[in-house]
Formats: sequence, C-alpha cells, structure tokens
Amino acid sequence: MIELNGIYKTYTAGKLEVPVLKNICFQVDQGEYVAIMGPSGSGKSTLMNIIGCLDQPSNGEYRLNGQNISQTEEKHLASIRNKMIGFIFQQFQLLPRMSALRNVELPLIYAGLSSDERKKRAQAALKRVGLASRAHHRPTELSGGQQQRVAIARALVTEPFVLLADEPTGALDSHSSATVMDLFDELFREGRTIVMITHDAEVAKRAQRQIVIRDGEIVSAIQKHNRTKGEDR
Ligand code: ADP
Ligand code: MG
Repeated sequence: MIELNGIYKTYTAGKLEVPVLKNICFQVDQGEYVAIMGPSGSGKSTLMNIIGCLDQPSNGEYRLNGQNISQTEEKHLASIRNKMIGFIFQQFQLLPRMSALRNVELPLIYAGLSSDERKKRAQAALKRVGLASRAHHRPTELSGGQQQRVAIARALVTEPFVLLADEPTGALDSHSSATVMDLFDELFREGRTIVMITHDAEVAKRAQRQIVIRDGEIVSAIQKHNRTKGEDR
C-alpha cells in the first residue's frame, strides 16, 4: 500500500521558499488504479518524484508497503526504488543505441541476474506487451506507441510493487494513446497497482479513482466504481 500523510514539499529559489505540495494525504491500495490529475505546474511531477522515491518530502510521512520512506536515508532510496517502482515517462526514455530487448534487460542488470535469466525475463515482458517480434529493433525503428510499450515492458520486468506513469500518453497520437491505455487496463485487470499522472481527463477516466490537485493541494477525489477487490478481474 502507498500512504501519504500530510506531505509538504517546498523548493528554495534564492531567498524564496516556494511551497509546491501542501498537506497531500491519500492512500493507494494494492491492485488499485489511480489517476492524479491537475493543470501544468500544479505539482504532479513533484508528487510522482516523492511516490517514486526519487525525492523526499520536506515534511510529512510517506509509507510504501509499510516502510517509512520519509525517514529512510538517501543512500537507501535507490535500492528501494529499483525493487519497488516501475517508472513510465512521457518521453519513453529508452536508450537509442540498444535494442528493445536490451532496454528491457537493463533494470535486471542492476538486480544482478545472469545474462540468460535476464534475456528470458525480458523476452517474456516484451511478449506481454505484444512486441515479441520487435525484440531486436532499436527505438528509432519503432512507432511512438511501440516505444512506450517497450518502456512498459521495462517497468514490468522487475515485477515492481507499483507502476508509476507520468503523462504516459503525452507524446502519443490518439491511436497509439488508445493502444497504451488498453494495455494499462489489462495490467490493472491482472492485479497490478498503477498510479498514473495525467492532465488529460479522457485518460484519467480509465482509472478507478481520480485525485485532482491544484496549486499543490488536493481539490477533489473521485471514485469511479465502488468495486470491491477482486471483482471484474
Ligand atoms: P506539474 O508536473 O504538475 O506540471 P511540477 O511538479 O513539475 O508540476 O511543478 C510544480 C511547481 O514546482 C512549478 O511551479 C515548478 O516551477 C516548481 N518546481 C518543480 N521542480 C522544481 C525545482 N527542482 N526547483 C524549484 N521549483 C521547482
Ligand atoms: Mg509534470
């Protein structure tokens, strides 16, 4: 479970203290699909960085699967991040000189797996996103939607606790965007926990729950269905 209790984040710009997140409180249960919405500059990426253990709050408590991240030393954050979080970014962030397969294998190198094991798992992840036949293509030889699916395979390959996506359809045309959103729907039905950041209301509607932030504060939280765990899976 993800638990945020009274999260504040303040950036210092010269002598100015700029509050970017103010008293953010919410929980995400295992197997939930939550969209975080809000206009540009509202603090979505700052919040994603905290949830993804890339940054720590200035104040408040963040717990990930029971572990108090806000009191974890900086040097341990990277290992928590590598084990627990599967990141998906707007610009895919694939390495251009490597094949799709090598890109998906990368997080497993950090996990210390053998080459054979890495290849096997990366191939299975590519198959999962429908791109087994593109394993040896480089990112430039793939469409935007295919590149994002490779990035999703890379996020899945470590079996993370949560998939954390920041504007995953922001760089895609409507057709590719629909393909990627369908894949997120399937992953949710398989029981994955997904936190998706978006400013697109159509994209956010696909989630079970929408949390809207404005100027660093939660202004509304909408539950789409009151479906109980396990239903519709
Ligand atoms: P969003 O992703 O919703 O567009 P961000 O979280 O990127 O919003 O930014 C929220 C606010 O915090 C903006 O006003 C931005 O200028 C400011 N901000 C973001 N990152 C930094 C930083 N590293 N230093 C100072 N201000 C920042
Ligand atoms: Mg952003």
